Amino acid sequence: MLVTNHVLTGALVGLASPGPVTAFVGGVASHFALDAVPHWGDRPMEEVMPIAVADGLTGLAAIAVVWRRTPPGWRLRVLAGMAGASVPDLDKPGRVFLGASPFPRVVDDFHARIQTRESSARMPQEVLVGIGTATVLGLVLGRMRRSAGRSRSTSTTPTPTTSA
Ligand SMILES: [Zn+2]
Repeated sequence: MLVTNHVLTGALVGLASPGPVTAFVGGVASHFALDAVPHWGDRPMEEVMPIAVADGLTGLAAIAVVWRRTPPGWRLRVLAGMAGASVPDLDKPGRVFLGASPFPRVVDDFHARIQTRESSARMPQEVLVGIGTATVLGLVLGRMRRSAGRSRSTSTTPTPTTSA
């Protein structure tokens, strides 16, 4: 699964979480859940690399945009959700740039084992998942910003409860 889709899903997990710790753990769980769903892949490394670089940069841009559009009281948990959802894929840049995955072998083996249903024909599905997730996220964040604006004008600012 493209890391941009992991980032967007992690943001939704963060919004649904009571605090940053649960958001991070939920983000990691969402990564493996999405990787277990049939997705794009199974291409030679030289074909994957340019897409992986573009995807990585898009994912970073998505983190910045989501951060800016998230009401301040929710940002930490949303960032934690996005971080948890993308951190398992650090094995790829780790291998390419440093020659090794940062994770124990058992984690990498599990990560590889659940990716058995990759297909080079599923890029349209990846794009649809990205557009769908970004749309839902945009709607939720827009609603939160509007309701935060309303409650500011009536001076009853709700502060989100933060716990683990
Ligand atoms: Zn993965």
